[in-house]
Amino acid sequence: MPRLRLKSTQNFPHIGAEILAKAKGSIEGGHGPFDTAFEHGQWFVLCQCGASWSVVDAEGPGIDPDFGLDFEQLEDGDEDYHDEEEN
Ligand SMILES: [Zn+2]
Repeated sequence: MPRLRLKSTQNFPHIGAEILAKAKGSIEGGHGPFDTAFEHGQWFVLCQCGASWSVVDAEGPGIDPDFGLDFEQLEDGDEDYHDEEEN
């Protein structure tokens, strides 16, 4: 069943933009604003607190089939970074 999917290993600006938009809606824990980086042949999502996520190809329950990617957290970042900005 062929379909157009983003690929975590393709370095195109529009993929970075879609990853950034998706990260805002799906990464929890009060993180953000996010930035994206394409390094070592794959995409990463970075938060200003130091947290980072690897972007991986994915499908199945909980995965938007039009997106076809998921986020796997690599670094937790500074736990206190976001507290000062809230409330
Ligand atoms: Zn953060």
